[in-house]
Amino acid sequence: MSFTLISEHPLTALNTFGIAVNARHFTTLTERADLPALLTSEAYHQGPVLWLGGGSNLLFTRDYPGLVVKVALRGVQVLADDGDTVLVEAAAGETWHDFVCHTLAEGWAGLENLSLIPGTVGAAPIQNIGAYGVEVKDRLDSVVCADLSDGGAEVILANADCRFGYRDSVFKHEAAGRLLVTAVRFRLSRHAALKTGYGDIQRELDAQGIATPTAQDVARAVIAIRQSKLPDPAVLGNAGSFFKNPVIDAEAAAALLARFPTLPHYPAADGRVKLAAGWLIDQAGLKGYRQGAAGVHEKQALVLVNHGGASGSEIRALAQHVQDTVRARYGVELEPEPIVL
Ligand SMILES: Cc1cc2nc3c(=O)[nH]c(=O)nc-3n(C[C@H](O)[C@H](O)[C@H](O)COP(=O)(O)OP(=O)(O)OC[C@H]3O[C@@H](n4cnc5c(N)ncnc54)[C@H](O)[C@@H]3O)c2cc1C
Repeated sequence: MSFTLISEHPLTALNTFGIAVNARHFTTLTERADLPALLTSEAYHQGPVLWLGGGSNLLFTRDYPGLVVKVALRGVQVLADDGDTVLVEAAAGETWHDFVCHTLAEGWAGLENLSLIPGTVGAAPIQNIGAYGVEVKDRLDSVVCADLSDGGAEVILANADCRFGYRDSVFKHEAAGRLLVTAVRFRLSRHAALKTGYGDIQRELDAQGIATPTAQDVARAVIAIRQSKLPDPAVLGNAGSFFKNPVIDAEAAAALLARFPTLPHYPAADGRVKLAAGWLIDQAGLKGYRQGAAGVHEKQALVLVNHGGASGSEIRALAQHVQDTVRARYGVELEPEPIVL
C-alpha cells in the first residue's frame, strides 16, 4: 500500500472558502494502481467518503466524519491527432487552468473561454463547468472512471452518457458516490471557431486593439475580465457563484418581467427562461451585505465570501437569508451551486 492515511487532518487549505474543519481520515491518491487497496481499506468502509479535487465547489459546515481522498492523479497525453483535431486525455488531478494553458500553448483551441476556473480536471464534468458561453460538455469526448462498486474497474462514459445539463451531470445523480473520475478526454481543434460574443470578451479585445484574435487572445481577455470581477480565493475565501441562475417557466417569467422590466433573462431549454441570480440578489439590496464574517461580495452579488474566520454554518445561514429575501421579493427559488457538506 503506497498511500498514507492520516487521522484528524485539517482541510482549511484544501477548500477555497478557507473553512477550518478536519477530516476524520485523509489520504492522497497519486497512483491509479493504489485504488483497489484503498477501496478495501478499513478507513474506506468506516464512514462516508469524499473525493476531493481543488475544494473550490464545496462548503464544509462541520468536520468531515469519514475519509477524504484528495485526487492527485497526474498526466496529460495525446490519444489521437489527425492534423486538425486532437483527442487529449488529462488525469483527474491536473489543475484545470494549467491544463487549459497547456492546450492553448500546443495550439489546440476550444477551452479558452473556460480559462481561470479554479479546481481540477476531474471535477470539471461533475457540474459541467461553464463560462462565457461555453460548457465543458461542448469540448468533452468522454470521461474515464473507476467503478467504486466494482473494485475500481475502469468504465468509460461517452459524452451522451454523462447527461450534461446546466451545472449538472449524471455524476451528481445516479453515478454520485459510485463513479470516480480518473481522467477526462477532450476533442480540441487547431482551427476552432472562437466564441467572442458572450459577456465582455469582445469589449475587452476591442480595448486591447485586437481585431483578429487567437484562442490565446481570447483566454487572456477572459482572464482579465475574471480577475477584475471575481475575488481571488487566495485573498478572500469563496467558491465562485454560490447560486445557480434560476430557470423558470415562460408564464412566471412574463409576470416577473412585467414587474421588473430590466431583469436580465435568457432563453433556456423547453421554452423556459433563465434569470440572472446576481441581479436578483443585487436588486434585493444584498450586495456587500454581511452577517459576521460571512458576506455577499461587494462587486459580485452571486459570490458569498469568508471575510476571515467564518464557519461553514455562518456561510450557510447567510445563503439561507439570501434565498429567503429573493423568494419574498420575487417568488423565485435560488439553488446553491456548491456541494454543502
Ligand atoms: C473564484 C471561483 C470562480 C469559479 N468560477 C466558475 C465558473 O466560471 N464556472 C463554473 O462552472 N464553476 C466555477 N467555479 C466553481 C469550481 O471552480 C468548479 O465547480 C470546479 O470544477 C470545482 O473543481 P474542484 O476540483 O475544486 O472540485 P471540488 O470542490 O473538490 O469538488 C466538487 C465536487 O466534485 C466531486 N469531485 C471532485 N473530483 C472528483 C473526481 N475526480 N471524481 C468524482 N467526483 C469528484 C467532489 O466530491 C465534489 O462533490 C468557481 C469557483 C471559484 C472559487
